[in-house]
Amino acid sequence: MCGIVGAVAQRDVAEILLEGLKRLEYRGYDSAGVAIIHEGELKRTRRLGKVQELATALDESPLPGGTGIAHTRWATHGEPSERNAHPHISCGDIAVVHNGIIENHAKLREQLTALGYEFASDTDTEVICHLVHHELKSHDTLLAAVQATVKQLEGAYGTVVIDRRDPERLVVARSGSPLVIGYGLGEHFVASDQLALLPVTRTFAYLEEGDVAEVTRREVNIFDIDGNPVTREKKESEITHDAGDKGEYRHYMLKEIYEQPMALARTLEGRIANQQVLDTAFGDNAAEFLKDIKHVQIIACGTSYHAGMAARYWLEEWAGVSCNVEIASEFRYRKSHMFPNSLLVTISQSGETADTLAALRLAKEMGYKSTLTICNAPGSSLVRESDMAYMMKAGAEIGVASTKAFTVQLAGLLMLTAVLGRYNSMSDEMQKAISQSLQSMPAKVEQALGLDDAIAALAEDFADKNHALFLGRGDQYPIAMEGALKLKEISYIHAEAYASGELKHGPLALIDADMPVIVVAPNNELLEKLKSNVEEVRARGGLMYVFADKDAEFESDDTMKVIPVPHCDEFMAPLIYTIPLQLLSYHVALIKGTDVDQPRNLAKSVTVE
Ligand code: GLU
Repeated sequence: MCGIVGAVAQRDVAEILLEGLKRLEYRGYDSAGVAIIHEGELKRTRRLGKVQELATALDESPLPGGTGIAHTRWATHGEPSERNAHPHISCGDIAVVHNGIIENHAKLREQLTALGYEFASDTDTEVICHLVHHELKSHDTLLAAVQATVKQLEGAYGTVVIDRRDPERLVVARSGSPLVIGYGLGEHFVASDQLALLPVTRTFAYLEEGDVAEVTRREVNIFDIDGNPVTREKKESEITHDAGDKGEYRHYMLKEIYEQPMALARTLEGRIANQQVLDTAFGDNAAEFLKDIKHVQIIACGTSYHAGMAARYWLEEWAGVSCNVEIASEFRYRKSHMFPNSLLVTISQSGETADTLAALRLAKEMGYKSTLTICNAPGSSLVRESDMAYMMKAGAEIGVASTKAFTVQLAGLLMLTAVLGRYNSMSDEMQKAISQSLQSMPAKVEQALGLDDAIAALAEDFADKNHALFLGRGDQYPIAMEGALKLKEISYIHAEAYASGELKHGPLALIDADMPVIVVAPNNELLEKLKSNVEEVRARGGLMYVFADKDAEFESDDTMKVIPVPHCDEFMAPLIYTIPLQLLSYHVALIKGTDVDQPRNLAKSVTVE
């Protein structure tokens, strides 16, 4: 979480830093700040609230200078306020921005206070700038002082440090939070995501865990955790379109919902041939890693966890391999049993989700046969540290509530089902049917997007509600969960999802006219059972909204609104039924006037535990 940008250049960098922050704002947005060195002075401006507040302040009172750092915060320690906003400064000399959590901050704060340092904020971050300042008393260079400092830090950090007395240098350090260096002509940049720097460069190198680097206008010197000089591969950005732009759409979320056919088409390209999903969709040596797999353990958080839950139904039923799915933060802290010939699959849009990454590292220690990540960020930690990667090619997702990443994850997991099925018990016909289904997904999603107007009208009914219940069965149960999550994330309506068979075991007690019930009802073998559940709700005076296949024979009446969803096969049904639920949450949030792209208290790319 949080956005970091830094620059060292001959020109003034405030504009570059500000543009970078705007592009990273989805990662945290409770306050923002910038510090710039100019003519021997260190100047700082910080503001509570969105980056726009900072932009206005800088308009009124510009900060010239060619070396600077900037930050948009997602508070973990200390309330969102101007005094807790980054950059933090020690003794007027050292300025620091930080992403992550310093777990031993309390002890360090005590030590530094005893040394005479005065703290101006409640953040864990502030210990970093005072420590660097202190270390500079016994080290000659900013690099050496930062190296000595990071040895004392426990927890996760991506940090950038500048020193007023050494004005043409940034020192950056990475442990647990991503940082990328951007290469320009006679100028260099750093950021927590390459997206921030696309207006100024397309050449990037990602720092690895434990790296510390010093960055000047002319040079970038990177050192590994032991202080040895290292080179990190420079790559041209693969981002083909500039995702920093909303285009004709009112919100990134809506843009990303509408990008789904394209995102799916891009992701499928080159991955299906002769009506079969190619092993190489998972990387060059994937066949070697996949052929003996008998069990799959999926690890993810949030929306990605819902994708994993849907895949469990497919892997067990169609591929004939057993599958468990677990939330990363649970898996990493409990003792779990590993089955023989197990594949560990992590799912994460950003590839930097802290809990998921920790779970991957644990699984490797446990001796999983192989590891695969389903991920949207090339070069991210999960991609680098897994044996195989399924790259999602969804394009940057800026809206905090995930949409296109989810459906592309589902497509990737369906491909995994087909490949593992081939090594196990799946018939040729089913492999063909899955390939065909995958290939017709983009067009079918396009059709489902045609429901937009009908759903916008429906959304009116929800605006004054405080609660909603989502129901589904089988692989639509995780889709109901995802629908509920979307609604709560962006409209702040309390929403829960239940497997409809669970209704009478408790939640039926909640049903009344104030609790809308949303049902996802494709025409599958569980339809009759689902219909009985619908009757249970109707008998208790509940109001239902049923997203149903036209052949499912649901009729609208006083207690039930039926929204016909384009007919689709069983392989793509969960993905297709997701679309109207995304649109529903979007339109409800619009009516409620919430901040759709940057909902309160949340941030994209959860790089802290
Ligand atoms: N832990 C730091 C703070 O609360 C950094 C948070 C962030 O990553 O934005 O200020």
